[in-house]
Amino acid sequence: MKVKVPPKVHEIIDKFEEKGFEIYVVGGAIRDILMSKSVYDWDFTTNAQPEEILKLFDDSYYTNDFGMVGIPNENEGERPYEITTFRTEYGYSDSRRPDKVEWGKSLEEDLKRRDFTINALALKVTSHQSLVTSHNMVNVDAEIIDLFDGQSDLDNKLIRAVGDPNERFSEDALRMMRAVRIAAELGFTIEEKTFEAIKANARLIHKISKERVKDELLKIFASAHPHEGIIMFKNSTLSEEILPELEKTFGVEQASPGRHHIYDVGTHSLLALKYVAERNTDPIVRFATLIHDIGKPQTYKKLENGTITFYNHEVIGARTAKNIADRLRFSKKEKDKLWRLVRYHQFTVDERQTDSAVRRFLRKVGQDLITEMLDLRIGDRLGGGARETSWRLEEFKRRLIEVQKQPFTVHDLKISGNDVMEVLGIKPSPKVGEMLQKLFEEVVEKKVPNERENLLKRLEENKDEKEN
Ligand code: ATP
Ligand code: MG
Repeated sequence: MKVKVPPKVHEIIDKFEEKGFEIYVVGGAIRDILMSKSVYDWDFTTNAQPEEILKLFDDSYYTNDFGMVGIPNENEGERPYEITTFRTEYGYSDSRRPDKVEWGKSLEEDLKRRDFTINALALKVTSHQSLVTSHNMVNVDAEIIDLFDGQSDLDNKLIRAVGDPNERFSEDALRMMRAVRIAAELGFTIEEKTFEAIKANARLIHKISKERVKDELLKIFASAHPHEGIIMFKNSTLSEEILPELEKTFGVEQASPGRHHIYDVGTHSLLALKYVAERNTDPIVRFATLIHDIGKPQTYKKLENGTITFYNHEVIGARTAKNIADRLRFSKKEKDKLWRLVRYHQFTVDERQTDSAVRRFLRKVGQDLITEMLDLRIGDRLGGGARETSWRLEEFKRRLIEVQKQPFTVHDLKISGNDVMEVLGIKPSPKVGEMLQKLFEEVVEKKVPNERENLLKRLEENKDEKEN
């Protein structure tokens, strides 16, 4: 087949072959080529030892941890070219790094240690004359080496373990998360035997470090198909191990006479995720939307008239969200974002609330998260069978913008404590703060505009009042 590669890729391959080494393109690049997508990530495997690779390229560097040699990419925004010597082990039985890196002797040895058939393809460039084509790419002849029928799985959109899936998952339990993650990224399904093996081995996921599990989970949320991904995550029973709190929301009924809910809590949550993902790509926002009602099972009450209530579920839910974030080693920033979204998702859009109530909401949620919070609300609405928006919600959005035009805290005033001291001729003291607070309230009440000149004038007036 003909393949277009960047000139640098051609150059790398040529250099290896000149010296009599074997070299192949591996990994995601082949997937992309066969699916006619652009390639941003060129990885190679070779029988040359790392020291030998370093000698071939002046700008190459050795990253000791994984036996990988990097060569800088000349195209901005693209990852460095990565060249790895044939390996006999790709797993991580405990946590962060391979137990030991051992060099393999053949391509076959390398490929059969890889996780899935679509990840175990290699590409060998066969022609050495090259023609530059459009977009500065080089046309080369190449052949695919496909020892495990990866191409047919790619055509059928299937994730299938290389070899016996039970063995492969018990060797390295992280592969189960990778299967779901890659399926969610590509919009693939997991082949039946591979999927059954995940179910059978799901408990082993506890052998993997929480950091790695979290990375894969967030990649599922960040993927092109998070809703389908989380359904696979649930059906594979991995979610029972990693997010048992989510499991408890399935089957919790919430349909009351005269109320809008038509789904149980878990089903609603999945749908909310589906809809939020259509408008927001942030994995934490998507995650928060999935778990926004996670406090409902614990707060469920059915009254005599059949009405179901979940008082304070957002408070309980926020506590649960925090526990989940701690358990999965979220960063402080990620945890805070998740917590705020869950804690305040139950906000009212009542048109009768005062401006200060709207401002209080803004302050609690944080201005940086308002768009995300509204996206969550739309996901919540659509996932509950409601329309995307309502005149009340639109009115509330208008008011959010409106009140943000006014200052929020004393610090947003166009004058400072120094101005106060200067104009009033006083020294640093609590009086300075009191005066700023007073002016702040006047601005909020629209008695005076937040302009430097007007505020200084008000200060003068205050001075006069004091003196008289
Ligand atoms: P992406 O880089 O887009 O996340 P990828 O498929 O390139 O996807 P990497 O994590 O970069 O994934 O791994 C590169 C290759 O190494 C994979 O394609 C796979 O062949 C192999 N691999 C990675 N992790 C494992 C593992 N745990 N077990 C077996 N093979 C693995
Ligand atoms: Mg990669």
